[in-house]
Amino acid sequence: MNITKSISLFQEAQKLFPGGVNSPVRAFRAVGGQPLFIDRGEGPYLYDVDGNRYIDYVLSWGPLITGHAHPKVVEAIQQAALKGTSYGAPSLLEIDLAKSVMDFMPNIEMIRFVNSGTEATMSALRLARAYTKRDKIIKFDGCYHGHADMLLVQAGSGVATLGLPDSPGVPAAVAADTLVANFNDLDSVEALFKKYPEQIAGIIVEPVAGNMGVVPPVKGFLEGLRAITSREGSVLIFDEVMTGFRVHFGGAQTLYNIKPDLTTLGKVIGGGLPVGAYGGKHEIMQMVAPVGAMYQAGTLSGNPLAMSAGIAALSLIREEGCWEKLEQAAAKLEAGILSTAKQAGVPIQQTRVGTMFTTFFSETEPKDWNTVKVADKVRFGKFFQKMLENGVYLAPSQFEAGFLSIMHTSTIIDKTIEAVTEAFRTW
Ligand SMILES: *Cc1c(COP(=O)(O)O)cnc(C)c1O
Repeated sequence: MNITKSISLFQEAQKLFPGGVNSPVRAFRAVGGQPLFIDRGEGPYLYDVDGNRYIDYVLSWGPLITGHAHPKVVEAIQQAALKGTSYGAPSLLEIDLAKSVMDFMPNIEMIRFVNSGTEATMSALRLARAYTKRDKIIKFDGCYHGHADMLLVQAGSGVATLGLPDSPGVPAAVAADTLVANFNDLDSVEALFKKYPEQIAGIIVEPVAGNMGVVPPVKGFLEGLRAITSREGSVLIFDEVMTGFRVHFGGAQTLYNIKPDLTTLGKVIGGGLPVGAYGGKHEIMQMVAPVGAMYQAGTLSGNPLAMSAGIAALSLIREEGCWEKLEQAAAKLEAGILSTAKQAGVPIQQTRVGTMFTTFFSETEPKDWNTVKVADKVRFGKFFQKMLENGVYLAPSQFEAGFLSIMHTSTIIDKTIEAVTEAFRTW
């Protein structure tokens, strides 16, 4: 594989950007080698600057459910751009996208658009705190909710511990209000409520964890979170920035039939442009300025380019039979990887919910961060490099989700399984 141009661009980029990238995982540190510089995307494919083509399972880390450069999405953006890129004033497009999102997720009674998932989660937490007049929040070890200070916290040792900052620059005082529980472990949640009675504003959770690799909720976990937060007067926030439109078009809340108080969205709803959103119960959303006192604003929020791309993407997936096709393709991929690994005698744990999947190189069933982190990163790195050589672009880390788009047809899945077979043949 010739990546000469990528190599020279990466050298230049490292002088300009920390690590040569504008978001850390892109640097390929976890898998070795160096990042590829991308020239263009088309349907299920990415093309690098040296002209190599890859079947893409990263899809810009989730947003591109309609694949790269879908003609209808591109046209929507072009048409919008002709009428101006931002007004800083209300437009019909915001109403259209809001209604479209709410059709898929009826628990969202009112919504506010922002520009990223990070903005969505930090605003939702501010809102939960304003609504409950409490300061502490609970997150789960191994779940990622963007890079706001209070969310860059993972567990210390043991379960019911105070969070420690995960990054220098996060003030200890900020991290102190973030409590960390174990994913899929209701006892760890109960223990925190016992220790901090009437102090916990809310729980934020990835209802299907995706940012430690895909880890589905065990039966009763989400139901338990709903029951506990209702009992304690805390706000339940489903962070569906990744799972929204991906584990099911209606998100995890539809798939598992649980009603969170607030939902955060991003990724898919922007059709590949920067969009986030938070929304939920009318009563809580009434606290948001200018109706209420909880302040949150955005210069480019609801801009016509992003709204148009989102509207176009959601209208494409609304077509009859779309989810069934996606689910079939994803199931076929899952079965293909599993049987190929089995034949080759390579121990893996394959997880999948809807269009999100992870192949863990592990003999331990992934249930939480403790059971996930034992996965073999060296073996994953080897698999990643072999897949790349065979024309398949996976997320460059063991602890990330893979994604499918409506352009990942049965033929594309067959090609991918061939690449997996080839990777394991020379294992
Ligand atoms: C990606 C992601 C975020 C952050 O979104 P950005 O747009 O990258 O800020 C938040 N929560 C979850 C669950 C995510 O997957």
